Amino acid sequence: MAAASLAASAATGPLVGLRDGHGRTIHDLRVSITDRCNYKCVYCRTGELGAQYPELGIEEYLRLIKLFVGLGISKVRLTGGEPLLRRGLVELVRALAGLRTTGGEPLDLALTTNGHLLDGLAQPLKDAGLNRVTVSMDAVDAATFERITRVEGSYAAVLAGIRAARAAGLTPLKINCVLLRGFNDDQIEGFARFARQEDVVVRFIEFMPLEEDRLWTPEIVVPLREIVARINRVLPLVELPAREPSETARRYTFSDGVGEIGVIAPVTQAFCGACSRVRLTSDGKIRTCLFSQVEHDLYGRMRAGADDKELRAYVLHIVQGKEARHHIGEPGFLKPSRSMVHIGG
Ligand code: SAM
Repeated sequence: MAAASLAASAATGPLVGLRDGHGRTIHDLRVSITDRCNYKCVYCRTGELGAQYPELGIEEYLRLIKLFVGLGISKVRLTGGEPLLRRGLVELVRALAGLRTTGGEPLDLALTTNGHLLDGLAQPLKDAGLNRVTVSMDAVDAATFERITRVEGSYAAVLAGIRAARAAGLTPLKINCVLLRGFNDDQIEGFARFARQEDVVVRFIEFMPLEEDRLWTPEIVVPLREIVARINRVLPLVELPAREPSETARRYTFSDGVGEIGVIAPVTQAFCGACSRVRLTSDGKIRTCLFSQVEHDLYGRMRAGADDKELRAYVLHIVQGKEARHHIGEPGFLKPSRSMVHIGG
């Protein structure tokens, strides 16, 4: 359907799907609700407090998210920065849990966090209607972990957060680990054991050129095949089938069927062809790809007085122009102007 007719139907009635110009269905929205973070992970931050982008009010995020949901988004993931730092988070989750997709279902509502404050917030978030959390954790060894986060006591806090989330029923609980050669690749086998002991799904993620510093090289990326081979040597793996075409992780269980790990390989095995995502930054800009060179000021239009019909037409137009793929590792690749912490990972 052409952008103009999509925009017309958005104005007149509900849509069943949001599609981009490459025929992909977009059903997944990631929303950053702050770009502040209480960790200074060595591969993400310079260690200095970078430029901060303005935050919107909780009601403003809600209005913008509702627009996307009305256009076919069925999965919303709140992120940051560190979303648990954001005042009003529980109220936002409660309001989102009351929304329905264009198909009449509750939203799939998830959150990505470093877990530092999760011990106190897991149950309130569950009670408010959150379905799942993903906790980022880049080492299972406390000393390595704290060398990465540069925050003393962070390992114990995150472990308590993970256990509180599991106890609250925010499951399946996923742990995302970004691997960098020479930083934390010695943690791979330990994470495989951790997945089984803690009953969590550990997902290893290839490092992408989205850091504040200039650390990224192809050599620092630990590729999927190496991760799988190393775990296989100590705990034999069996690959699991994908549950949906837009699934980003290759999933594996262990040969005894206990536990699960996954590998997300955006660098060595890009999955752009099945990408179902768009992002909203904490200052209300749409990013149609992590590596977009342009952002689209949805909030600016809202603040200037655009009504929902105009904003929906704008979203449809922008989603139509979503990039076909990223160009990591190719000659001429340009890092986006925002780093991961300011985009919303
Ligand atoms: N503070 C939250 C957290 O820690 O999950 C949400 C924001 S954080 C930027 C989201 C995820 O992005 C984390 O798992 C982090 O490890 C990951 N990340 C940051 N920089 C990355 C990079 N250059 N490549 C791949 N993942 C990255």
